[in-house]
Amino acid sequence: MKAIQSETSQVCGLSPEYDPWDPIVSLRKYGRHTLTSVEMTVTNLCNMRCEHCAVGDSLTMKEGEMLPLKTMLDRLEEVEHLETISITGGEPMFRASTVDEVIVPLLQYAKSRGLRSQINSNLTMPYSRYEKLLPYLDVMHISFNYVNGDDFHEVGFAGSAHPVAKEAAYRLYDTMIANAERLSADGMFISAESMINYRTHRKLPEIHRLIGEMGCRRHEVHPMYASSFASSLPMLSLAETAAAIHELLDTRDPEMWMLFGTLPFFACSEEGRDLELIRRLRSEKKVTVRNDPDGRNRVNVNLFTGDVFVTDFADIPAFGNIAARKLDDIFAEWLDRHPLNQTVNCHCEAAGCCGPNLLVKDMYYQNLDFKSRKAITL
Ligand code: SF4
Repeated sequence: MKAIQSETSQVCGLSPEYDPWDPIVSLRKYGRHTLTSVEMTVTNLCNMRCEHCAVGDSLTMKEGEMLPLKTMLDRLEEVEHLETISITGGEPMFRASTVDEVIVPLLQYAKSRGLRSQINSNLTMPYSRYEKLLPYLDVMHISFNYVNGDDFHEVGFAGSAHPVAKEAAYRLYDTMIANAERLSADGMFISAESMINYRTHRKLPEIHRLIGEMGCRRHEVHPMYASSFASSLPMLSLAETAAAIHELLDTRDPEMWMLFGTLPFFACSEEGRDLELIRRLRSEKKVTVRNDPDGRNRVNVNLFTGDVFVTDFADIPAFGNIAARKLDDIFAEWLDRHPLNQTVNCHCEAAGCCGPNLLVKDMYYQNLDFKSRKAITL
């Protein structure tokens, strides 16, 4: 498995040393935040209703007409420094026609322009839909927060309008695992994301082990924040979150790339606990901490309305539409003028940090002025 891992990382070029989704990369390259990444929402349909779903409230049972794909491709072509695209939903692969008519052409475009690509999926659809992506896709991003089919049943259908039978959930769980194993064996780079939340924080070592067994190349770990379906769930304290990360680091496979994101710990903290964790994360082999891309180097475009958002999941209204304007222009206005961005756009080069995610600030640091702080030398 290790031989396959390093071979694949070389093929798609992504590694702990090279993560083009991290906005610090483009900030260093261009001297200011620059639009290098575009995420597209290609469906609001999904066969699951996960408890933590960040877009749960936008999921629908039917959906309307999508904009002509050419409109989106033309807008992508205009983005001067584009380096990555992400495709999200819903479950993007929910309909076979979306795979053939939207996803594959977007990935072919990305490949032809030398862009890196990612798709977010629950991996429970027929293998044939995923197989079509193998020649083009760089990262298959999945959620994995379970130690067995019962967890999957409880978490994966918590937001369903009707009860879902355990047996039906078990079948999907088995499909997800079989798809992950087969795609990994066929050379796909699967990055499995786990959330640190009230359910998972003591199970992360076991979750990590299962992710390794499926052949995934990377384990992504993000704390869960109050958004959409997750708004009413119990939240962990910062101390519990830090403890869960330490336990995971103690028990992880040191050969697997671990990517932590949207962490609520910053190098300007006055808490010894936070600084100790940051020091440890920096010193661990094959562990990276990604700065949050949303609104830093990335925007989200809804392919049904053309609306442009800072992210697909925060309750922040759209700040532009691709029918009317170029993405670079919409992004520049967000960056320079939007009052929300002005609250979090700090940068401490020595710490490789470009500030908190808006949800993180909202949840843990509402009254803190990050713009007046500086990283403590570690
Ligand atoms: S960039 Fe902002 S959040 Fe990061 S260490 Fe500096 S002041 Fe703190």
